[in-house]
Amino acid sequence: MIALEGRKNTTKLAFYNDYESQGRIRFTVAHEAAHCFLGHKEDSELAERQANFWARYAIAPPALIYCKELRSAAEVADQFGLSNECAGYAFNAYMKWQNHRINDKQIDDSIIDLYVQGLRHQHSYQFLGDDQ
Ligand SMILES: [Zn+2]
Repeated sequence: MIALEGRKNTTKLAFYNDYESQGRIRFTVAHEAAHCFLGHKEDSELAERQANFWARYAIAPPALIYCKELRSAAEVADQFGLSNECAGYAFNAYMKWQNHRINDKQIDDSIIDLYVQGLRHQHSYQFLGDDQ
């Protein structure tokens, strides 16, 4: 279990299965953080898809996969600490991104720069610890 601090000093608890792989747990935590960040109030198929997209993009953004010159889901799993299943989804999303992206280094660099800034940014959700 982890606790996520949300807006207006609300605390949300996210539960995960300790018997899952670390990669799976990592994605689950990101998925639950996405629900908090996106302000989802109830379950829906759209909310699940949005949370999966957000989590996948937060953990393994296509611009970083491109920047690191990763060539397979296995390499994505290794670099970003994802399960093989999640890495497969991330790598497929990256392939779609490659097919539709504009070959513009400035845009790619700005995405990577935003990602790095995001890692450094003090945002409204903080990891408060886990129960292990
Ligand atoms: Zn969900």
